[in-house]
Amino acid sequence: MSVNRQYRLAARPVGMAKHSDFSFTEEAVRQPIDGEVLVQVLYLSLDPAMRGWMNEGKSYIPPVQIGEVMRAGGVGKVTASRHPAFAIGDIAYGTLGIQEYATLKGEALTKLDAGKVSLPTYLGALGMPGMTAYFGLLDIGKPQAGETVVVSGAAGAVGTVVGQIAKIKGCRVVGIAGGAAKCEYLVRELGFDAAIDYKSEDVKKALKQHCPKGVNVYFDNVGGEILDIVLTQLTRHARIVICGAISQYNSTSGVKGPANYMSLLVNRASMTGMVVFDYADRYPQAMQAMAGWIAAGQLKTREDIVHGIETFPDTLLKLFRGENTGKLVLKVADS
Ligand code: NAP
Repeated sequence: MSVNRQYRLAARPVGMAKHSDFSFTEEAVRQPIDGEVLVQVLYLSLDPAMRGWMNEGKSYIPPVQIGEVMRAGGVGKVTASRHPAFAIGDIAYGTLGIQEYATLKGEALTKLDAGKVSLPTYLGALGMPGMTAYFGLLDIGKPQAGETVVVSGAAGAVGTVVGQIAKIKGCRVVGIAGGAAKCEYLVRELGFDAAIDYKSEDVKKALKQHCPKGVNVYFDNVGGEILDIVLTQLTRHARIVICGAISQYNSTSGVKGPANYMSLLVNRASMTGMVVFDYADRYPQAMQAMAGWIAAGQLKTREDIVHGIETFPDTLLKLFRGENTGKLVLKVADS
């Protein structure tokens, strides 16, 4: 327990991140001072947003600096505490970073109920992606029973939750995902009404078939060409939630904007960006609702868990290659 291994940002990537954009370093574990807690990292959340945090420039949070430990949310076990709210053995969530131990102020950690759900679920459906799905869909998408909701990136961490909440709310749900296996999972296991494999199907034709009355709510995780196609299928007063644009994150030739945006005018529709952190004060309300749905069997959770901190650079790329189903999690140590 005296050595802490970490991945630090070594260079700003051009296009897809490479091994040489990170350095794998070692340093002594830093013991906590007054007000701090030492956490052994158990599970780390790997997110598409990490690619954006590696870029220079203004975003919704500052970029990771060169030489800094790569930013990541995670769940860990308290191994030493000089904060009154934390005791050895407590399980907590925080921005722990890609490392084996994190020494943080107690205020930067949230204590978790370890007996309630499996710990990786706190990084998925009951974590940041689940909160994104909940507030993005319900606050911005505002789906009404009987409406048609389309979600892209549908088999991922956010998309799987969006589709299931939309079903709970009585909507017709159509997912867009890459590959037959993911599409089958969405329909057979998660109860989506239909799924479109954008890698092998004509998306526009399939949308017309599966959304005969048009698209009332589009929850966009991917941007690019798929957003442009969905824009052609909107109903009047449709709502588009701009959650992410993963198809554009590694672009070296600029972001492809939607050519069909006049559809917003014609349909009196709206397209609204959302950042989950804006809803932080309402997370407890969302977590309670989601935990209730999980307990009732209405919301299925799935994590794609890869073992070993040393696999981080390769594991991160699974997101951009479509190799994950459900929430991608890096397991760093046994709980
Ligand atoms: P995820 O969906 O679990 O994983 C990413 C998935 O994106 C991959 O599995 C892949 O699935 C798909 N993908 C990758 N490259 C693609 C491309 N070129 N075109 C189309 N699809 C592609 O990731 P997540 O954590 O749930 O995040 C989903 C989106 O939400 C991301 O854009 C992320 O940045 C965004 N997000 C936003 C917020 C916010 O506050 N606004 C918070 C969390 C996440 P396929 O096999 O289907 O291609």
